[in-house]
Amino acid sequence: MSTKVFADEPGITTDGLPVERELPEQVGVVVLGGGLAGAAAMLAAAEEGQYVVLLEKLPVLGGSTIRSAGLSAFVDTDEQREQGIEDSEELLRQDLLTVGLHHNDPELVDTYVSHQAGTYRWLKAHGVEYGHIHAASGQSVPRSHPSDTTAMLRHLFDAAGRLGARIITDAPVERLVCEDGRVRGVVVERDGQRHTIRCDAVVIATGGFARDRELLDRVAPQMRHALLAGGPGNSGDGMVMAQALGAGVRDLPWIKGTYGIYFEPHPDEDGTGILAVYKGAIMVDVHGHRFVDESRPYKELGDESLAQEGGQTWQVFDAQVMASSSDEVPIYDFANRLSAGMLEVADSIADLATHLGTDPGALEESVRDYNARITAGERDAFGREHLVGAVGRPTPIDEPPFYAQRSGTVVLATYCGLTVDPRMRVLDVFGSPIERLYAAGEVVGGLHGAGYMTGTSIGKSAIFGRLAGRHAAREESDLQW
Ligand SMILES: Cc1cc2nc3c(=O)[nH]c(=O)nc-3n(C[C@H](O)[C@H](O)[C@H](O)COP(=O)(O)OP(=O)(O)OC[C@H]3O[C@@H](n4cnc5c(N)ncnc54)[C@H](O)[C@@H]3O)c2cc1C
Repeated sequence: MSTKVFADEPGITTDGLPVERELPEQVGVVVLGGGLAGAAAMLAAAEEGQYVVLLEKLPVLGGSTIRSAGLSAFVDTDEQREQGIEDSEELLRQDLLTVGLHHNDPELVDTYVSHQAGTYRWLKAHGVEYGHIHAASGQSVPRSHPSDTTAMLRHLFDAAGRLGARIITDAPVERLVCEDGRVRGVVVERDGQRHTIRCDAVVIATGGFARDRELLDRVAPQMRHALLAGGPGNSGDGMVMAQALGAGVRDLPWIKGTYGIYFEPHPDEDGTGILAVYKGAIMVDVHGHRFVDESRPYKELGDESLAQEGGQTWQVFDAQVMASSSDEVPIYDFANRLSAGMLEVADSIADLATHLGTDPGALEESVRDYNARITAGERDAFGREHLVGAVGRPTPIDEPPFYAQRSGTVVLATYCGLTVDPRMRVLDVFGSPIERLYAAGEVVGGLHGAGYMTGTSIGKSAIFGRLAGRHAAREESDLQW
C-alpha cells in the first residue's frame, strides 16, 4: 500500500530570525520544535530571563502551525465583542467537555480556560492580529479567531530573539538525557555525529505524528486509507522520547481524520478538502449508495467514510450548491475545484454515475429517495434534517449540471499524546512528574478527550506553550556557567 502524503511545502526560512548554527554545550532551557508551542515556550522562558535555545529538526520552521487554517478558540475577546458575540469561559469549559464526551482531563480543560484570556492578550501585545470570527465544529457560539500563523510565529521568534534566545535548525533531537531520575539534556544528531546539550529543563513541542504512517498504523489502524497532512517533521519523536523515560499518554483511541479531501494527493489540494455536504451535497459510496447523515461533524464523517470500501466516497451535488461556492472559505470553494479539474460534471445523475464508475440505477435511486424526503419535509433515511449541525435546510439535488468530488479522509493532527499536569510537567505512567521535563502543543494528550473543538489545537499550542516555557524557566539552575 502506498503512503499517501502531500508534497512538502517550504516552511518559514530563518532569514532575519535569531538563528545560531553551532550547537551549544549547555543552555538554561532547551525547546524542541519550531511550531507555535515551541515559539510560545521559547518566548515565555526568555521573558523569565533564561537563556533559551529552540532546536528544530528541519532546515525550516513552522511545522503544522503554518499549514493550518489558523483558527484559535478564545472567548470574551475584543473581536467577539466588536461582532456582538456573547461568550464566556464557562461556556467554553462546557463546550470542551461536551465535545470531548467528558473523556477530557478536567484539570487541563480548566488550565486552557483559565489561561486563555492572558495568552490572547500576550499574543496581541506581541503583534498578533485576528480577523472576522466564525463558528466552527463544537462551538455553541462563534469563537474561531483567524490569524496568519506565519506572521504569528515571526512575532514570537523576533521577540524571543531580542531577549537573547536563539533558534538552531537542522537539529533533530534523538534522545533525552536523564540522570538520577532527572532530565539534564538532549542528544542531537548532526552530520552523522551525536552532540549532547546540557540544560536545566527541556520543553517538548515536537507536534503530533500525523505524518508517520508506521506509528499511525500501530495506534490508529482505522486510518490506513487516510491521507496524511501536517508538518513534514511531525513523526511523534517527542512523544516516543518521553515514553522512553516512562511518560504516560492519553487520548490515543480518539485519533480522527477530517472528511472532504480529494481522495488522491492532488497538486491543487491545500490539505483541507471541501465540505460540499454542509451546503447540500450527499455522500455516496463507490456503488452509489448513501450511508450517513451528512450534517454530522466532519471528524465523524471522516470515520464513516473510512469505514466504506477503500475509504473512498463521493460528494454529489448540483448547480444550486455550486452557486454557494465562496473563494473566501477554502472548504466551500467549489468553483476552484472545478477549474482545477477535481470535480466530475454531467447533465444528468445517470451520466454522472457513468463518470464515477458507479451503478447508474443505484445513484439515481439514492438521489430520488433523498429528494423525495427532503421535498416532503421528512427526516431522510439517515435522519438528516439540516445542512450542518442544527443549521440550514437541505434542498433537493435536481438542478443540472451535477457535480461529484472523489472524497476521502485526511489526518491533519493527532490530538493525543503525553500526560501533563497544569504546569505542563510531563507525568509518568504512575502520574508523577518526570523532573524537569515539560511538554506543550499537539504532543500533549488530555485536553480534547474524545472529540475536537475547532481552534483548540492552535489555542493549546499557544496557551500550553507559554505555560511550559514559563515553568521550565523557573527551575533552579545547577549548571556551572
Ligand atoms: C491543514 C491543517 C489545518 C489545521 N487547522 C487548524 C485550525 O484552524 N485550528 C486549530 O486549532 N488547529 C488546526 N490544525 C492543527 C494545528 O495546526 C496543530 O495541532 C498545531 O499547529 C500544532 O502546533 P505545535 O507547535 O504543537 O506543532 P507543530 O506546529 O507541528 O511544530 C512541531 C515542530 O517540531 C519539529 N520537530 C519534530 N520532531 C522534532 C525533533 N525530533 N527535534 C526537533 N524538532 C522536531 C517539527 O519539524 C515541527 O517544526 C490544523 C492542521 C493542519 C495540518
